[in-house]
Amino acid sequence: MVERSESDSRSLLRRLRDTLATPGGGQDRLDRITHLIADSMRTQVCSIYLFRDPETLELCATEGLNPESVHKTRMRLGEGLVGRVARTGQPVNTGNAPSEPGFRYMPETGEEIYSSFLGVPIQRVGEKLGVLVVQSREAREFSEDEVYGLEVVAMVLAEMTELGAFIGDNNNGIGAAHRFTVMFRGTTGQEGAAEGRVWLHEPRVVVTNPVGDDPDAELKRLEEAIQALQAQIEDMLEGSAAMDKEHRQVLETYKMLAHSRGWFRRMSEDIGLGLSAEAAVEKEQSTARARLEQSPDLYLRERLNDLDDLSNRLLRLLTGQGKDTGAELPPDPVLIARNIGPAELLEYGRALRGVVLEEGSVGSHAAIVARALSIPLVIHAARITTEALNGDLILVDGDQGFVHLRPEETVAAAFRDKIAMQAEAQKRYADLREQPATDQSGQTISLMMNAGLMADLPSLNGSGADGVGLFRTELQFLTRTRVPRRSELAALYKRVMDAAGDKRVHFRTLDIGSDKVLPYMKPQDEPNPAMGWRAIRVGLDKPGVLRMQLQALIRGAEGRPLSVMFPFIATPNEFHAARDSLLREMERESALGRTVPCDLKIGAMLETPSLGFAPESFFKACDFISIGGNDLKQFFFAADRENERVRRRYDTLDAAFLTFIEQIIARCAANNTALSFCGEDAGRPVEALALAALGVPTLSMRPASIGPVKHLIRRADLRELREIIVNARDAGAQSLRPAVTAYLANL
Ligand code: PEP
Ligand code: MG
Repeated sequence: MVERSESDSRSLLRRLRDTLATPGGGQDRLDRITHLIADSMRTQVCSIYLFRDPETLELCATEGLNPESVHKTRMRLGEGLVGRVARTGQPVNTGNAPSEPGFRYMPETGEEIYSSFLGVPIQRVGEKLGVLVVQSREAREFSEDEVYGLEVVAMVLAEMTELGAFIGDNNNGIGAAHRFTVMFRGTTGQEGAAEGRVWLHEPRVVVTNPVGDDPDAELKRLEEAIQALQAQIEDMLEGSAAMDKEHRQVLETYKMLAHSRGWFRRMSEDIGLGLSAEAAVEKEQSTARARLEQSPDLYLRERLNDLDDLSNRLLRLLTGQGKDTGAELPPDPVLIARNIGPAELLEYGRALRGVVLEEGSVGSHAAIVARALSIPLVIHAARITTEALNGDLILVDGDQGFVHLRPEETVAAAFRDKIAMQAEAQKRYADLREQPATDQSGQTISLMMNAGLMADLPSLNGSGADGVGLFRTELQFLTRTRVPRRSELAALYKRVMDAAGDKRVHFRTLDIGSDKVLPYMKPQDEPNPAMGWRAIRVGLDKPGVLRMQLQALIRGAEGRPLSVMFPFIATPNEFHAARDSLLREMERESALGRTVPCDLKIGAMLETPSLGFAPESFFKACDFISIGGNDLKQFFFAADRENERVRRRYDTLDAAFLTFIEQIIARCAANNTALSFCGEDAGRPVEALALAALGVPTLSMRPASIGPVKHLIRRADLRELREIIVNARDAGAQSLRPAVTAYLANL
């Protein structure tokens, strides 16, 4: 067995670094590096394979194999031993390579005479760049120290990549990884298409020196940084008393990791072998990442994010790099993040062209804000934060949930055509702005918009909406660190009504709980929050905030007409109690000598099937009813609206659901109760048309949908479509979608 000492390793790393400092192109450097490694490891062969594209590896430099095969020998990811190292991110160490399962013989390289094989991944924080291989004639397995030593070398190569050390002549060097086109298949969070430049919400830390000259000094730096990290976590834990349980649990996990002796020991060993403290942190991060990614255990895989967070914090402490790198927001930024809170998203505001998240959910606050701001949003784009670099060209297809990073010119051109067509269509819709949504039979549907932010209001005129059918007041509460004051809210509601002018705004009182958790509210540990203590249930049980909000609404109206609706009413008595409380506040305000609204309309949101079967008196008592289709559908089909697995399983145009909606329409009509539909389906043209045909007189949707929905209604004959729907249902169709789409196709 060949013994390699720590000083061998350190001297190799230093020589590698010197290679970087000497002039020469990328290929030169790679050649010199393979020579140095083979010499230091005392092997006959050292080769560097790099990704040509995400699926193909190419031999880019070699000492010992046939030089003619350089840039010719290629293999697919997973193919042969090299491909296996690349796919798994784990080393392959064997004394008898040809007997290994999956071995692939490549005659052009002349490698047949080398029996032993050691391959390690060249990777950086889970980002695969290539494979480093040493081979020798002698049939022996490499020692643990040698494997470890080669991993350390691979780490330095990966870091040099980040510095662009090998990007030189003919683009053959390491570093090509970040030039590939990558497509991500995510989920739609908000429709729309956007082209722009990547802006990383949390930029990566750049390690400028992967090699440490003085191991003792590096070790001391690491110890101090870990102590600082532990102190940071303690501080966060101390300030976390008011946080939800999940948040605290994450911090507890951080604490455990930050005190882990194994973690510290492995990093110290890396430093002993010649890495700088920051390179050691990165090496451990990538090795653990590669291991955890392979794990079948979902819990362990989810810990990846914790590990990344912690390592990044440690790297920031070591390098002194903050989140603010001084980089300037590009003029057309597309925000890339693992996840983001609503407040942070609001801070960026309308400057953003698009948002792409690795996590997130359709019903999350960030998604609600993105929707309110009309910014295309794609969620669940796995690994985009590792692949994207600030300034990369990026295309976001919010309609399909696709993202193209560094796209080919042909893809970019096709995408630009799509954006242009959408802009063209929007222009056509703008021409319809002053026209009513009247169908061919002369029936007019009122189209309103959903809003939640002051920033939404300019869309009221731009979109041609008849009013605001749903104003989600919780957004103001979600984006603050404390309960807003009554005077603040009153001023805000006044501004909203000022901006709306003659058009009516239907304010929905605070709808919190479920996925909308206020940071300053005591967390509720509920097994099923969507069916738990939320919306009006909270308002009635803890009336203080509801009363304050009702007073703010009355004051904000300053004598003008006011419409208020209560969310998530499941039984008439809940509506009566909420209504009584509003009427009481009216009396109180009046008794205090304040001007009260000249006209007050009080409505309920119908979001649970139970309310559809409420007694006649309930319908009579409501001035208006608004169907919250998002919640109603999830409870009708018992399918969580936030669970991507079941969310799309049931169709709005299912005969059972539409029949139920039809009954609500009939009951409202019989009692002269105004009716609207304000779930997301109201803004989807096919669904909107079906709802209108069945008799929903008012649809409330995001502003961008008003044009397309109006355009379709004006071309359709709703009476005719109603007949088609009824006939299909009578004929026994479970889904009425085919009948509706066939009608639309012939328009
Ligand atoms: C709904 O449930 O359809 C609705 C409009 O309310 P939210 O999406 O805010 O729950
Ligand atoms: Mg709802």
